[in-house]
Amino acid sequence: MNASNLTRPNMVVAVDGPSGSGKSSISKESANRLGFNFLDTGAMYRSVTWFCVTENLDDEDLIIERINNKDFKLYISTDPLKDQVKVNDEDVSKIIREDEITSRVSHFAAMPKIRQFLVSKQRELVQASNSGIIVEGRDIGSVVLPEADFKIFITANDDVRAKRRAIQIDSNENDVLVAQRKRDLLDSSRKVSPLVIPDGAVILDNSDLDFEQSVEKFIEIVSAE
Ligand code: C5P
Repeated sequence: MNASNLTRPNMVVAVDGPSGSGKSSISKESANRLGFNFLDTGAMYRSVTWFCVTENLDDEDLIIERINNKDFKLYISTDPLKDQVKVNDEDVSKIIREDEITSRVSHFAAMPKIRQFLVSKQRELVQASNSGIIVEGRDIGSVVLPEADFKIFITANDDVRAKRRAIQIDSNENDVLVAQRKRDLLDSSRKVSPLVIPDGAVILDNSDLDFEQSVEKFIEIVSAE
């Protein structure tokens, strides 16, 4: 039986977890196998960060004024096989993953008005989804979609996460660990929508699981009655 036969149509799955936990790749592959859409909300925060860095903006009110009008048009694909993000028709899919953006995104993501703006966009995209959807981020089960059908908190221990990320970006494991701890701390200690394990979430700790086992576990969780 196809995995999608086991799940309800238009199911909403909220996925949260720290950086480097593999939540994006696990969620994306699970969405692909289930025939679901996939929304990477981190890419939305990265896109706003890219815009602010490019336009040299740091004042929250000024930023919100600029992104609220026609200066800022954000497109993000919800097809799990199409990793595309555009700002004002410019493809930023790759540039938003670069170190400069990665190191600055938590600063902009802590601004309440930016969060408000993106949360409402995220809810619109979920509303518009014509199939089940997996939405991945830091505050999805707690703030964006507290009524989601399933909430999954994906995590792994610090060393495992740093090791995987270092291989992925071809970098030194220790440098990655230091940067990762800094970002985790900023994300979990900020005043607005900090990274938390949402009420009712199932914890998927993949420290000792490989990718395939993690995807199988994910699909098993959302296939439960
Ligand atoms: O998931 P990713 O590492 O791409 O997210 C980049 C950053 O965006 C996170 O470190 C966090 O600061 C911010 N973020 C957030 N809320 C989300 C998704 C991402 O604050 N829902």
